[in-house]
Amino acid sequence: KAYRADFVHALEHDIKPAFGNSNDEVEYMSNGIIKWGMPVNRVLEVGDMLIAEAQSSDRTPLVKFLLEGSVGSGKTALAVQIAKNADFPFIKICSTRNMIGFHESAKCQSIKKIFDDAYKSPLSCIILDDIERLLGIKSQIISLQGHMLLIIATTSWKDALQEIGILNVFRTKVHVSSITSSEHLINVVENIDAFTSNEVEQLKKNTTGKSLCIGIKDLLELIRRVKPMEENQRIVKFLCLLEEEGGLEP
Ligand code: ATP
Ligand code: MG
Repeated sequence: KAYRADFVHALEHDIKPAFGNSNDEVEYMSNGIIKWGMPVNRVLEVGDMLIAEAQSSDRTPLVKFLLEGSVGSGKTALAVQIAKNADFPFIKICSTRNMIGFHESAKCQSIKKIFDDAYKSPLSCIILDDIERLLGIKSQIISLQGHMLLIIATTSWKDALQEIGILNVFRTKVHVSSITSSEHLINVVENIDAFTSNEVEQLKKNTTGKSLCIGIKDLLELIRRVKPMEENQRIVKFLCLLEEEGGLEP
């Protein structure tokens, strides 16, 4: 619970300004967003709205925003896209993925550094990726006042946040949807020109009206896997994989 207090304190009070732009990893992590349906537009709209609201506020705003959704539903990419739309000079991703092999103390240092750097910029955005994994780390002891700070957190484990009592730190929570309809699936494959028009028809026929549930990340991975195959087998194989991994009813 001590962690929780520190963490909440950091979210509520932390941030001082600095200058520095290390957006390489942000560039690296944003491979683009396919607008496959309303659920995607909605997430981006909420993000833009919060940013506009924060920018027009006369008090120094601290915006805390949570994107929650299943594993692979596209949370990190959407968080990055929203941060990019805000066009802040400082965007930093805080993720345990960049800390593999670090001892706890080194993780703390690395998180603290991110907050310290954000502190030096008048407008900063920190993405707390898979926030439930960052909690075990004794949090930053910095004060977050006087600067516009946008905190976008992601999680695939909303219940864990509820349990440790930080879910309500986030005034705005948005659900990141998986793909659950044939129509949305088809929008993705058409958007990236994955298959021929005959194949798309075949895919439509075999998925329309069926239940389906797959995150965009896994869907793109399945497409990559079948892409090199010969055209007459691709859709059959793709449908098999979708049944196995995407919950497509046979
Ligand atoms: P994990 O649960 O493993 O952390 P995640 O939910 O954070 O996964 P991402 O890592 O963001 O998912 O992966 C989504 C991938 O799909 C990215 O490569 C992104 O560029 C791509 N993508 C394409 N269209 C969209 C979209 N509409 N929303 C989100 N990601 C998209
Ligand atoms: Mg992620």
